[in-house]
Amino acid sequence: MTPDSFDFLVIGAGIGGLSAAAELSRHGRVMLIEKESAPCYHSSGRSAAMFARHYGSAAIRALTDASEALLNKAARHGFYEALAPEARGILFVAPAGYDGPADANEGQVRITAAQVAELVPLLPAEKVDHGLWDAASCDMDVHAMHLGLARILRSHGGEIRTGAELTQASRGADGWHVVAGGKSLRAAAIVNAAGGWADEVATLCGAAPLGIEPRRRSAVLIDPPESAAAIRPVQAWPMVFDMDQTVYFKPEGGKLMLSPMDATPVTPHDCWAEELDIAIAVDRFERLTGLAVQRVSHSWAGLRSFLPDNEPAIGPDPVIPAFYWLAGQGGSGIKIAAAAAALLAAHATESPLPDGLGAELARFLSPARLTAKAAD
Ligand SMILES: Cc1cc2nc3c(=O)[nH]c(=O)nc-3n(C[C@H](O)[C@H](O)[C@H](O)COP(=O)(O)OP(=O)(O)OC[C@H]3O[C@@H](n4cnc5c(N)ncnc54)[C@H](O)[C@@H]3O)c2cc1C
Repeated sequence: MTPDSFDFLVIGAGIGGLSAAAELSRHGRVMLIEKESAPCYHSSGRSAAMFARHYGSAAIRALTDASEALLNKAARHGFYEALAPEARGILFVAPAGYDGPADANEGQVRITAAQVAELVPLLPAEKVDHGLWDAASCDMDVHAMHLGLARILRSHGGEIRTGAELTQASRGADGWHVVAGGKSLRAAAIVNAAGGWADEVATLCGAAPLGIEPRRRSAVLIDPPESAAAIRPVQAWPMVFDMDQTVYFKPEGGKLMLSPMDATPVTPHDCWAEELDIAIAVDRFERLTGLAVQRVSHSWAGLRSFLPDNEPAIGPDPVIPAFYWLAGQGGSGIKIAAAAAALLAAHATESPLPDGLGAELARFLSPARLTAKAAD
């Protein structure tokens, strides 16, 4: 193998690509390329970093459970600590006068207005009808994950090349020939972990796009009111959603992160929070809490990328040999990254499926399901 020749070329150093590259580095020589100047520049560096145990489809929840086991194993082996040791919890709040469905879902218990006010002192009991409380969900440390995964990759002889956008790719009898960042590379197999750009990368490689739709989600930081912070330290507050899921807020480094939960379809790009979405976030927070926001100290937006059936695609392209997809993780790409990478690596190395992920789930997540639907 020449210096610029690899077993696996992973495209995109978000948390998906980093996880896949670290996993594959146990099986062969890996190059991870990233078009930006650093890993986790796009979605993976802009998330709410929540390990929401009960959020998402059955497939997402299965990947979440399997990820928890893998992340605990990584922590036990001293690689990295991705899951916060103490649960933050997720609270859904029904405002006073709420007349929608009130049943608790899996993993939640119904709590009273007084209990809501105790958990989050900025929600006065008289403004609340009840809450649905998931006490088990916790924060994730994406930075620790990023560094730990890069360490694993490098310890197995793998490389990360930043400022290296894939611009050309062709496949010959001896594998893939690509150009990235102006340099030629060869690889036996390609993993497409390009987030919102996954269809563009597929097209470059001669594969049919799967219909990825990047959707912008915005967030702002505000100062929490001192009076409420004095009753209970902000860092101990849960992540809070209104019951209709139009706004959430969450402690973030002593401040509160708010999101208007926007999901605006956009072309893949380096996105930012629009003025209107910032105003909507503030307005919805003020309506929920009765507080007036004095100042937004920071705002940002990131892409959550979805496939037409809102499920991720993990596995081989149905037509192009040695081309694997890891795309469409939507709003769950951080929490499912470990299991998604293990499943991807099982496909790419023809190894047994990871614990907790059966053949039925692997088939359900296969990219082939989308091309078969398109052909119907
Ligand atoms: C506001 C917000 C809140 C969120 N909250 C959560 C949460 O609480 N929990 C959770 O699990 N998930 C959450 N998510 C979703 C999560 O962030 C994403 O699912 C996840 O980051 C996707 O990771 P990725 O590696 O697929 O994509 P990305 O992080 O976008 O990485 C893809 C990379 O590919 C690179 N790339 C693209 N094209 C090329 C090319 N041609 N050559 C080289 N490189 C290329 C890009 O530059 C990019 O760095 C949230 C997202 C947002 C925006």
